[in-house]
Amino acid sequence: MSVSPVIVALDYSSAEDALRMAKQLSPEQVRVKVGKELFTRSGPVIVEQLHELGFDVFLDLKFHDIPNTVAGAIRAAAEMNVWMVNVHASGGRRMMEAARDAVKQAGSKTLLTAVTVLTSMGADDLSEVGITVAPEEQVRRLALLTQNSGLDGVVCSAQEAAMLRDLCPQPFCLVTPGIRPAGTDVGDQTRILTPAQAKQQGVDYMVIGRPITRAAEPTQAVADILRELEQA
Ligand code: C5P
Repeated sequence: MSVSPVIVALDYSSAEDALRMAKQLSPEQVRVKVGKELFTRSGPVIVEQLHELGFDVFLDLKFHDIPNTVAGAIRAAAEMNVWMVNVHASGGRRMMEAARDAVKQAGSKTLLTAVTVLTSMGADDLSEVGITVAPEEQVRRLALLTQNSGLDGVVCSAQEAAMLRDLCPQPFCLVTPGIRPAGTDVGDQTRILTPAQAKQQGVDYMVIGRPITRAAEPTQAVADILRELEQA
C-alpha cells in the first residue's frame, strides 16, 4: 500500500505491456491507473495481477448509467478491492448516491470519485448538449453535487484544482491529470501543472502517464517527481 500522491496511468492496449511497465515501478512509490482500453482488452484479471504485484489500482472506467446499473458495476469494483473507482457526476445525485451505497454495502474501503466536465468539452460542446452556463460554472456545480452526494472526491483538470480546493476542503480529494514535470515533453496536454505546482494548489493525487511510462528510465522519472514533491 502506497502513501504516494503519484498515480501512473497504464495506458496500454495489452496486459503484457502494462505489466512490463508495472514491474519497473514500485508499489511503495506509486499507485497505478487502469483505464477503459486496457480493461476492455484484458478484463478484471489485469487488476488481480497488479494487486499481486502490490499496487493500489485506480479503476478509471467513469461509469454513467441508471442508478441500479452503476451501483452494480461499482459493487463489482469494490468487491475487487480496487483502491479507487469513478463515475460521471452528470449521472446525477441518485446515481452517485446509489454508487456510494454500493461501496458501503460491499464493506470496502474503495474510494469513489466523479468526473465533473470532461476537459475535452469546451463551451461550444456543452452548449450543443444543452448546457449553456460557463464550463467553470458547470464544474463547480457538479463538484458540489458530488460532495453533497457523499462521494470521496473529483477528478479535475490542473486548471480547476485551486478553485475546487477552495470550494471543497479536504478530506474531499482532488485527482488531477495534466501534470508535467518541468523540462518534460508536454505532448497533447494543455494547461499543465508541474508536480510541485499541483501540490501547492491542493491536489491530493496526480495522474501521470507518459512522463513516466515513456521515460528512458521510468524509475528515475518517478524518483525525480517524488524529490520535486518533497521539496515543494
Ligand atoms: O500521459 P499523460 O500524463 O498525459 O496521461 C494522463 C492520463 O490521464 C491519461 O490516462 C488520460 O486519459 C487521463 N486524463 C487526462 N485528462 C483528463 C482526464 C483524464 O489526461 N481530463
